[in-house]
Amino acid sequence: MSDPIPTGRQAKLLIDNADACVACGLCLDHCPTYRLHQTEAESPRGRIAIASGLASGRIALRKNNVVHLDSCLVCGSCEKVCPAHVHYTEMIDQARALVFEASKSSRTDRFFNWLTAKKKRLAILAWLLWLYRKTGLRRLTGWLPVSRLPAVARDYGLKPYYPAPAPARGRVYLFTGCVAELFDQQTLHSAVRLLNECGYDVEVPSRQSCCGAVATHCGDTGTAGVHQQRNRQAFSHRIPLIVTSSGCAAVLQQDPDLAVHDINSFLASASDGGNLSAPAASGEKIGLYLPCTLRNKLDAAQGVFALLKAAGMTDFVDLSEETNCCGAAGTYMFRHAKDARRLRQKLYRRIEQERITLVLTMNIGCLLHLLNHAGRWRFRVMHPVTYLAQR
Ligand code: SF4
Ligand code: SF4
Repeated sequence: MSDPIPTGRQAKLLIDNADACVACGLCLDHCPTYRLHQTEAESPRGRIAIASGLASGRIALRKNNVVHLDSCLVCGSCEKVCPAHVHYTEMIDQARALVFEASKSSRTDRFFNWLTAKKKRLAILAWLLWLYRKTGLRRLTGWLPVSRLPAVARDYGLKPYYPAPAPARGRVYLFTGCVAELFDQQTLHSAVRLLNECGYDVEVPSRQSCCGAVATHCGDTGTAGVHQQRNRQAFSHRIPLIVTSSGCAAVLQQDPDLAVHDINSFLASASDGGNLSAPAASGEKIGLYLPCTLRNKLDAAQGVFALLKAAGMTDFVDLSEETNCCGAAGTYMFRHAKDARRLRQKLYRRIEQERITLVLTMNIGCLLHLLNHAGRWRFRVMHPVTYLAQR
């Protein structure tokens, strides 16, 4: 994540980045939105041409151009296979910053950016969602997607410090994340438990902020910079910062002042053999979905496999080959709900074919997106650390 920069310099950086593209088209078949729509404008190459045109003034900042930049999942699949090493995801963030400055970014994005900018706003949302369940309104509005959200935590139920039971071998921070803290406290509590079990004292600084992913991806470099500053003040770079959600880790790791570690890889290397052992329950068929941020940005897939191996879990179906992105992609699942459902459908089909009863995934966005209709398809979704802590 870079500091806010003037538009002129931003446009120059974008054009330099885009110029590296030799238009070979090797990335096209790896792009989930190109596979869905089969149009150049919905491909990485098409988006590079649009972004470069906008930055140089050759293309007008109009809705019909901007929409193709907005529909990018920022999954990084194109970047991973690009022989010219185009820094695609950096370029798309720069392009979105230009769009944001011109006040042309989507209203949904702006709303979520506003919402995640302050924890107080999220606390009000948590209270409203709690009321929605408590008053029975949820039962009356079962057709609404909001009715399928998991129960929210009424308060931020984490303590500031969790000492390891035996003499500690070290101290770590836990990053809580804004959405995960609302909807998935069981993963955070499970992470604390496993880290303690592996001999680490866990500190949860209350002054930490959102990772800034929503702000970055909607082009609001100013708000992204504020989150970055707050996190720099909350965490010392000398202490490992453990992150459970791969989307947050992918953004945080861009800051050289933070010592970011993906929880799966960290636990795999901290495990002494045996202390994380968790054989699957009989009759449980497990599917593993590795989020695109974990595969392409963190390059941490091996860490997940190592953790599952350390826990004695070798029998699972890898669902990741079904799609390069499940369609969650931050706010994409709200902004492009129909396409997000189409991308997810491939996973649901495989889950049904294989009769999978439990899906393990490592990003809060993927977890919520997959959970949305999981009840109908009769499977559960959770983070591997939750599964290991429960077993
Ligand atoms: S982004 Fe890379 S792979 Fe895609 S067209 Fe450009 S040079 Fe080729
Ligand atoms: S980041 Fe993903 S969705 Fe966006 S252009 Fe690249 S492959 Fe396509």
